[in-house]
This record gives sequence, C-alpha cells and structure tokens, in this order.
Amino acid sequence: MNHSSIIRASALEYVRGVTSGEFTAEEFLSETLSRIEEAEARYNAYLHVEDGQKLLARAREIDRGIKSGQKVGLLAGMPVSIKDNICMRGSRTTCGSRMLEGFVAPYDATAVSRLNAEGGIIVAKANMDEFAMGLTTEFSAYGPSRNPWNTGYVPGGSSGGSAVAAAAFECVASLGSDTGGSVRNPASFCSVVGYKPTYGLVSRHGLVSYANSIEQIGPIARTVSDAALVLGVIAGRDEHDDTTADATPATDYLEGIEGGVEGMRVGIVDEMTEGADPEVARAAERAAGNLEAAGASCERVSLDMVGYSVPSYYTITAAEAASNLARYDNLRYGYDLPLDGYEFNSYVAEARGRFGPEVTRRMILGGYVSSAGHAGRYYLKALKVRAKLTREVADAFASSYDILMAPTVPILPFRIGEKTDDPVSLFMVDLNTVTANLTRRPAVSVPYAVSAGGLPIGIQMMADSMQDRTLLRAARALEMRRPPLPEVPD
Ligand code: GLN
Repeated sequence: MNHSSIIRASALEYVRGVTSGEFTAEEFLSETLSRIEEAEARYNAYLHVEDGQKLLARAREIDRGIKSGQKVGLLAGMPVSIKDNICMRGSRTTCGSRMLEGFVAPYDATAVSRLNAEGGIIVAKANMDEFAMGLTTEFSAYGPSRNPWNTGYVPGGSSGGSAVAAAAFECVASLGSDTGGSVRNPASFCSVVGYKPTYGLVSRHGLVSYANSIEQIGPIARTVSDAALVLGVIAGRDEHDDTTADATPATDYLEGIEGGVEGMRVGIVDEMTEGADPEVARAAERAAGNLEAAGASCERVSLDMVGYSVPSYYTITAAEAASNLARYDNLRYGYDLPLDGYEFNSYVAEARGRFGPEVTRRMILGGYVSSAGHAGRYYLKALKVRAKLTREVADAFASSYDILMAPTVPILPFRIGEKTDDPVSLFMVDLNTVTANLTRRPAVSVPYAVSAGGLPIGIQMMADSMQDRTLLRAARALEMRRPPLPEVPD
C-alpha cells in the first residue's frame, strides 16, 4: 500500500498493517487528517475535528508501544469518529442543535472510554439531525452533510455524518446511534455497513437521550467484519447503564463470522418489499438468490403488524423525546441568553425557541399524545401495537426463521431539499427500520448494489434478540456473495 491509499484500509487491514510495521499509526493518522481537510469542504461530515497535534502525539505513543511490544489495544491507534450526541470529555457535544452550541461534555460516554481503552483515536464529532430526529441530516442546525456518491443527494440520517465519514475515508469507522434506523439508513444511502445491536448490548451511558427505551449506539464501517470488531470493543454490561444486559455474549464478534449461511432460514418480509422502488425491490430478490446459492433457504413471510409500526414508533418516540428534552430550559444546559427582561415562563419559552422545526414538532406531538386526555387514544395504543409487533416478530424467529430480510430503505437516496416540506412522507421512509427498534432486535444494513443512476442500495437483515453473532455471520455471507460494487466516486 502506498501512502495515498493507506487510508482506504478496512479496520482489519489497518490493525494488520500497523502491527506488522507496514505503516505507523502516526502516518495513517496524518493521512487521515489531510483527507479530512480536503474532503470536508464538499461533505460536511464533521461538526468538530479534534486538535491534530494532540491526536498525533497519541498516535506516536501507540507507535512506541508497538515497537516495544506493549499492548496497544484491539484498535491500535485507529482513527475513528463519533456522532455528536455521544459525550467525550472536554469536547463539544452539540447534538446538531443550536441549543447546545457551547456545551462541552464533562465526562466520557462508556462507548468512548472503551474505544480509548482499546487504542482508538477519536478524530472528530460527526454531523447529525438535531437530537437525532430525522433521516437526512438536513435537520442539523449546522447544515446538511452531503452524499459522497452524489453531493446533490442526502446521505441519510440521522447519523449521516458518521456514514459519510466512513464512506469518504475520513475515518476507518464511526459510531452512530439508531433509534429508528439512524445507523442503518445512512449506511444504506452511503454504501457502508451500519449495525444496530440488540437493545441492551451496548451502554447508552453518555449518549444524549432521544427515545431511551429503543435506541442503541452502533458502529458504521466499510465492512461487516470491521463493524463486528468495533461492536466487540463497545459491547457489554456497564454499571452506569442498568439497561445493559447481564449475560453479555462472548465479546469477540469476529469469531465464527466466516461460518456462512448453510441451513439458515431466511424470511423476506412482504410488508417491507411490496411498496419499494423497483430497483430496490430487485436488489432484495437478488440478495435472496445469493443467500440460497450459499445454502440458506429463503421464503416470503408476511408480518401484519409492520404496517402499523411507523405510527406506533413516532408516537412512542415523540412522547419519550418530549420528556427527555424537557431538561433544555437553558437553566441547567444551554447557551448564553441573559436573564434580564424576562420572567420565568417567558425566559424558558424564549430559550426553547432555539430548537429547530423538527424537534419542536416532535415535542408538541409528544406532549399531546401522552397527555391525560389523549394518552389512551395515542400513546397507550402505540404501546399495544409495539407489544403485538414484538409478539409477531418473536414468533417468526421462534418458529421459522433465523433472519428476516428486506431492503434497508424502500426508496433510493433523494435530492437535498426534496422532502423537507413534507415531514409525514419522510416518516414513511423509516418503514423497514423501526421494527427492529420497537422489538429490540439487532439489525444490520449491508451495501448491496448501486442503482442505474449511481445511488447506493443496502439490504437489511434482522435476527432474534442476542443473536448478534448469527446476524453478523449472515451479513458477512451476503457481503461475500453480492455482485462487485463500484468504488465511491471522488
Ligand atoms: N428517522 C427516525 C426519527 O426521526 C429515526 C431517527 C433515529 O434513529 N435516531 O425518529
């Protein structure tokens, strides 16, 4: 590998290359920093890049460690980035919002301390829709990120910055958060791998809450194995988050990943394919063919409750968001707004006027659907739908399938600005992703094809709770069998 191409290395290639002396952590990092500088004018993947000198000093420390045979961690100085709703001590954490413009996190998220402990070097905070509400990054207060496959198009979201950064070689891997598809959707739109773990596998400590009962931090990377490597670093019981699972499965998610899909039973979900764009639907059919050729059996399956998943999802998440975002009253967190001339209510109202339109909409909606007079018709009904959907999905896994498969997103990436005026049509784009969150199952988006117009198509696979290793194995099998993918244009 020459120097201009080293940054295209996968995570596994990086670790091999740096530990065998093919290149140093410092060289790799410095190439990555130049790449960031050159690429950011076009992509706006990052909200904040960390101090280069400090990062390089850390890389040199890793290099010394490698030379002297010390342990340098599984990531060995690998440049990674994190979504800007994940706290890192001493670093700005804005959540893509003007509300938190000057907020500096006083502590590390557990995922961040685990990355650091394994020698990861966090280079930047990635752009996102404000408070992770959205699926295009157009709701970021700091301007949209752009899709490297075509900069006139959205990169997906809400972890759009993370997906762009991984696709455009501005890091080796990134962490996003997935409440209703925010890791998988941008991964699909940018042709990278996005992994949403089983709920409870990864600590949410230090992740700024949007809808805490369903969201997880998850890796975005260029290969399935890379996502598995990063998952292994961040997963596991955390005493700071009591929703993390006690019985954490073996932490090496790479083990067995090449095992293939021989004998696996795969259900292609009707409700997630029927209304899809024809090119997208065809990709799902071809993916099923690839898995059959590898020894899996694929059949169509109907899951009735999927049709109700989006309204249920947006009702529950709005209610949780309204509660979680109530803390932004500008007294405890916020920005510089002098108190003079206001009484309490007008002050808080003025301060909260800083939220953007999508967040404001969700908070009003969330207050309404969970209010005493309306909760029975909306919030409680949404919870019932969630319970029925969970039963339906649990039955499908218990009786018939190892994997449920569909396109990650039913449509192709669209133009920046094309859908911002119609928030409800944007909600429907989440049709295929929210089921995994509502039912707490793991799901992954695997790059599969590029459309005739040059836009990426991803395939989603979902498995039963805590079957993350089975899921990764199936995803890896698809990655190996899919038709060759073109390189991202530059
Ligand atoms: N588009 C969904 C929403 O806006 C998903 C967002 C996410 O996963 N954070 O809620």
